Amino acid sequence: MTDLALKDKVAVVTGGSRGIGRAIALEFAARGAAVVVNFNRSPEAANEVVKQIVDAGGKAAAFQADVSNFKQAEDLIKFAVETFGDLHILVNNAGITKDTLIMMMSENDWDTVIDTNLKSSFNCSKAAIKHMMRKRFGRIVNIASVAGQMGNAGQANYSASKGGQIALTKSLAREVAARNITVNALAPGFVDTEILDAMSQETLESALKLVPLGRKGKPEEIAYAAAFLVSDQAAYITGQVLGVDGGMAMM
Ligand code: NAP
Repeated sequence: MTDLALKDKVAVVTGGSRGIGRAIALEFAARGAAVVVNFNRSPEAANEVVKQIVDAGGKAAAFQADVSNFKQAEDLIKFAVETFGDLHILVNNAGITKDTLIMMMSENDWDTVIDTNLKSSFNCSKAAIKHMMRKRFGRIVNIASVAGQMGNAGQANYSASKGGQIALTKSLAREVAARNITVNALAPGFVDTEILDAMSQETLESALKLVPLGRKGKPEEIAYAAAFLVSDQAAYITGQVLGVDGGMAMM
């Protein structure tokens, strides 16, 4: 793989302002892609990612959209095509948690997590494949989670959204394979981002005991895997779930 393996590609990274999405945006840009850094509530963080890319000689633009909203997701994809003239890569990364036991979970806790983590992947993928099918090329990566494979007490909404993303990945992969579009998922374990701030130190420490490699992952370690899945070298991989979890879920 060369340093510029994504040269002339246009990528949209949802939730590219912080955490894993930020690392993916930076990694893709370093490999030559023009990147749309989507954000919802963190314009400053998104602009900082864009600045870092542009300062290094790359191409990037920030775009505000709540991707759980169908119309806003469509606008995001439209922005990418209008700004950079094409769309080759979509990473459905935006995600949130609202953890509690089902006994205590409100309808809103359920709906917000499902809409933000799962419906967003439908919204953005549906808009993106219109362009990809015409061009007969596309790469979609859904950022799922080990929680979608193993389940997790206190995360029924989150686990269901991530399990749903995995099923969506496989179904869409079958629908668009004939048009040379691949659709894969990454299933990270515990990765060092702000999303873990909601967990107590005690819960995190006991959770890390389930990780054979014995540590949290780094956002960059998820980004490398995403860069592989969208590369030309991964052209024959579709409908797969790649665990990047320190060995936590061995499927
Ligand atoms: P994070 O640091 O909290 O970042 C979440 C990102 O999602 C932010 O950029 C945020 O943007 C964006 N976002 C949230 N709601 C959005 C919406 N409605 N529309 C657009 N963007 C939205 O979390 P992270 O750890 O990087 O998580 C990224 C993905 O990896 C998520 O899907 C998460 O479930 C998954 N994951 C994370 C871990 C982990 O341990 N960190 C493990 C497995 C899977 P704004 O700040 O601009 O709103």
